[in-house]
Formats: sequence, structure tokens, C-alpha cells
Amino acid sequence: MSKFDFAPMPDKEGFFGNYGGQIIPPELKKVMDDIDQAYETIRQTDEFQDELMSLFQDYVGRPSPIYHAKRLSEQLGGAQIFLKREDLNHTGAHKINHCLGEALLAKFMGKKKVLAETGAGQHGVALATACALVGIPCEIHMGQVDIEKEHPNVTKMKILGCKLVPVTRGTATLKDAVDSAFEAYLENPVEYLYAIGSVVGPHPFPKMVRDFQSIIGREARQQFNDKFAKNPDVITACVGGGSNAMGLFTAFLDDDDVKIVGVEPAGKGLDTPDHSATMTLGTPGELHGFKCYVLQDDDGEPLPVHSIASGLDYPGVGPQHCYLKDIERVEYESATDEECLNAFMTLSRVEGIIPALESAHAVAWAMRVAPTMGKDQRILINLSGRGDKDADYVAEKLGL
Ligand SMILES: *Cc1c(COP(=O)(O)O)cnc(C)c1O
Repeated sequence: MSKFDFAPMPDKEGFFGNYGGQIIPPELKKVMDDIDQAYETIRQTDEFQDELMSLFQDYVGRPSPIYHAKRLSEQLGGAQIFLKREDLNHTGAHKINHCLGEALLAKFMGKKKVLAETGAGQHGVALATACALVGIPCEIHMGQVDIEKEHPNVTKMKILGCKLVPVTRGTATLKDAVDSAFEAYLENPVEYLYAIGSVVGPHPFPKMVRDFQSIIGREARQQFNDKFAKNPDVITACVGGGSNAMGLFTAFLDDDDVKIVGVEPAGKGLDTPDHSATMTLGTPGELHGFKCYVLQDDDGEPLPVHSIASGLDYPGVGPQHCYLKDIERVEYESATDEECLNAFMTLSRVEGIIPALESAHAVAWAMRVAPTMGKDQRILINLSGRGDKDADYVAEKLGL
């Protein structure tokens, strides 16, 4: 596998068309610019590239395989379904790819601590893992309500040695954890690194996280062409903040023969308030230091969002996705909670693969369109993570 190569976007101010940028106070802009400069310097060194690539291989277990889901394809009676198996990565999802990049960057920059918030605990566990490996202190803020709901991840973070800060203010969930972690970060932004968990936030995070995740698509493109001497006809991934999707899509953006589809959570339905379909129903706005499509009220306040997959319920979305939608390079579709549950059970029972509820959104969309396509056509789904974390919830929900 070739080392890093880099997409030309964003521009110097961090814009993808009208989206992205840095909507932050001047002190923080200086800190973000320093991170950008350090990243731009470091990423071109052999030392950084070799270290990251060897961790991808020997620690994460890359390259992750491409698996032909033959029984599922046969059952659907149309296009052939392939899975990019990010669920087989160490820690069970794609998030370890960018957490390793961020932890290494923190080490190279001589930062004293890495901070972040976590909702369901997935980002927290991946980051605590990367920080344990790199040997840098890690502090994770998590709402008390989430701490009580997500026991296995809380225990893992403690075992991995990170400092877990319970947040009891407000509703004691993700939004309050973001506020709390950000306040702790502002105590010393020069010596701390705030490790953002997706392709969101102020520049340079959407670019950096995309670059770290782009290994997914570079591997997949190579693997597909080695096998079939051809790209897949369609590639698809679920979109929360959009990191696993950008990870798969980036290598294929210039390939006119590939249709690209991002799948958002339609929750209880697009005609109800209980969804998180930012690209489908949002409008341009600002959130967490950058411009993007936002699900917002008339005053520009973010609306409450819902998805059965807690990793997808975010009222904003990565700025490059917004740009790719506007230029019509990527199509954004959605799948409901019910379709997601059906895809979760189908993949488990037909292929013996229990997917994360997040990833099951992309599977659900593929199951909808595959029957309308020819048997010689191929759909590649990014299976962003495994479903161990969701097993108890689904079993209870379905009365298993
Ligand atoms: C966090 C998570 C997601 C959503 O994040 P993106 O940045 O949109 O990729 C998707 N799948 C899994 C398994 C996750 O843990």
C-alpha cells in the first residue's frame, strides 16, 4: 500500500466550497493554525508515515478484508454485495484509524494531554486505546446518563488508564459532555490536544481525520481492482459526522464510473421530529466551530436529534460532505430505525456477521437497491464496526 496521498481540498482557510472554516475566537484560531502547521510538516516525514503505516498493519490488523456476501446477494436477487470489514479492526470499528493519527500527532507536538468527549463511549475507547499505546495521558468527559447506559465501554476506558470525567450538568448526555470537555481544554489549549471524533469541528480537523481514515478507500480500491480489474459500481457508507464515509469515498471521488451514496439515519421517519437526517433536511448554518448543513430551529439553535444508532445522532455533518452534496458528486439517502434493525438481523442470520447499528444503515440502503440492479453489478458497503455493543439492546428490543 502506498503511503499517504492527499486530496487537494480544503483551501488554506479550511473551506470546502462554502463549508468548514474556523468559527472560533482568535486565541483558539492561533492554536488550530499551529496544529495545522504541525500536521502539514509531520505528515510528509518518513518517520510519521512509517510509524502510522506500521501501526495500521501490526496493531490494527490492516488491510481489512473485502468480503463477498454471497448468501445475502443471492437472497436479494440483484447486485453482488461486498463488505469492507472495518469491524475486524482492533477495538472493532474504523475510529481507531484516526485516533492513532491524533495520538501520534499529539506526541510529535509534545502535547501533555489528549482530551475528548464521548457519547456511547466508542470514541472514548478508541482514543483511550491509542493514548495507552502512544503513552500520553488521556481525559474523557462523558455524561452521567451515558455512563450508566454504557457499562462495558466505561469499564474498558478505566482499564485502559484514561481519566474518566462524569458530567452531571444539564441533561448529563453528549451535549453536556462536549461543553465540559471543551472547558477543560480551554484551561490550556497550547499544551493539550482536543481529539475530535469525526470529520467535523474547526479546520484542520475535517481534513486530518479524513486523511487518517482515507486508508479505508485506498485499500478497497486496490483490493477491488486486484480482484476484478474494475471499480465497484456503487460504494456506500453510513453518515453521522461522516468519518467512515469520507474514509471510503476519498479514493473514489475522481472515478466517474463509481456511484457514491451516503446513508443518514431517518430514525422514526423523515416526517417526524425523531431523525438525524442532516444532509436531507438540514439547512446551511454553523455548529461547533464550522459551517455545515445543520438541523436547526428558526434561531439557528441545533434541534434535538434521534437515531437508534447513538453514533449517528449529530445535528451537523462534516463540511466536505456538504460540498460533495452541492456539487452532486455524492448522493445522500436515509434509512429508518426499523430498516436498520431489519438489516442488522438479516446480516447476522444470513452471513453470521453482527454489524454495528450505525453500519446497518448502509446495509439497509444496499438491501433496498440491490434487487433493482443487475446480478453482474457490485455494491461495496463500508462495514464501519461490529455490533457487540448493540447486541443486548437489540435482543431486548426484539424480545429475543
Ligand atoms: C462512531 C461510529 C460511526 C459514525 O461516525 P462517522 O464519523 O459518521 O463515521 C459509524 N459507525 C461506527 C461503528 C461508529 O462507531
